[in-house]
Amino acid sequence: MDSRTTRQVQGFGTSIFSEMSRLANQHGAVNLGQGFPDFDGPDFYKEAAKEAIDAGLNQYAISHGAPRLRQAIAATWRHDHGREVDPETEVTVTSGATEALFDAIQAFVGPGDEAIVFEPFYDSYLPSTLLAGGTLRPVTLRPPDWAFDPDELAAAFGPKTRVLLLNTPHNPTGKVFSGDELRLIADLCQRWDVIAITDEVYDRIIFDDAVHLPLAELPGMWERTITINSTGKSFSLTGWKIGYLIAPAAVTAALRIVHQFVTFATSTPMQHASAVALELALANDYYDQLRRDYARRRAVLADVLAASGLPALPIAGGYFLNSDLSGLGFADDVTFCRWLTAEVGVAAVPPSAFYLDPARAPLLARFCFAKRDETLRAAADRLRRVRDLLPGGN
Ligand code: PMP
Ligand code: GLN
Repeated sequence: MDSRTTRQVQGFGTSIFSEMSRLANQHGAVNLGQGFPDFDGPDFYKEAAKEAIDAGLNQYAISHGAPRLRQAIAATWRHDHGREVDPETEVTVTSGATEALFDAIQAFVGPGDEAIVFEPFYDSYLPSTLLAGGTLRPVTLRPPDWAFDPDELAAAFGPKTRVLLLNTPHNPTGKVFSGDELRLIADLCQRWDVIAITDEVYDRIIFDDAVHLPLAELPGMWERTITINSTGKSFSLTGWKIGYLIAPAAVTAALRIVHQFVTFATSTPMQHASAVALELALANDYYDQLRRDYARRRAVLADVLAASGLPALPIAGGYFLNSDLSGLGFADDVTFCRWLTAEVGVAAVPPSAFYLDPARAPLLARFCFAKRDETLRAAADRLRRVRDLLPGGN
């Protein structure tokens, strides 16, 4: 890297997702690392994108989002939660949830400020906070159920706290925060006058009797919550990068100012296609199908991992399973994931990349099950040999 690069950027390195995908390609491994479906999203979304391009919807959109998409986002919230969200003043469209997170953090975290985050946390939260001049204050989620200590959370709040970052359903753990946990978080945010930024990109992928509750709908929270989502996970087209922010008008005004200078506007035809997709999904049973489909894929991968001596912890949402590596003789998860990719031919992601201090991470490996049946079968064929190939022949 050029020696004139800022200290912050020099400290960031390459994302673990790109690194593991590169390693998977290099070794011809089945890639269960980086979280993306290896199947296509629904035809109705793809057709809508082609139609938008052919209809000439190809120039800059309004900076804060195409009106039809903002209306579809508001209609979805009204349908799901019964609240009237104003598309004119409370919805902003971004280039994926990643940009939405960046915009929200730049708008509400300044030099010397602290952002509370549950650890492990999604990788972009740290660089986004450091680039704003702030620091992360982690609160630990502990396996197997990924609960946190309420006293540890309360102690994390202080005069420097400006925002709390929440991700539910949670990547990489698969935790869905419960009503009691959210009430505790809501109470502390109100007591300390803190803004909550909630990343809910996996809200449509939940299992069994899990219920996804948006923090914004808890009493007293609408006025201080920024809800972030994207169509990438719900519609299995992660490369389209349509994200959005929902927040009260005064908060939205600040978010739009940052968004204006980060990307100005997001791809116009993809915004129109996303509007059509959200409208259709509300009118048919698309989300139920998606949930059933992922429940099946989760069961397939859970069986494969268990049969390979890599039993996974239970999850309530998202599309990742975490296998317990204790007893396999590896010093850390990075060594295991590199070995698995190179020697067994299956790529996974080391969850230590989601920790401020990787040494705090429990010994797990994250596997993505947003994959075709044939991909999961190919992984199964290879994983069956894990025990035989273990260094030292465990
Ligand atoms: N947050 C979480 C928790 C994620 O897992 C991801 C993507 N995998 C994102 C944000 C980024 O979403 P997008 O692709 O819409 O930028
Ligand atoms: N969020 C995806 C994951 O957790 C990856 C997205 C990315 O590569 N930035 O694997």
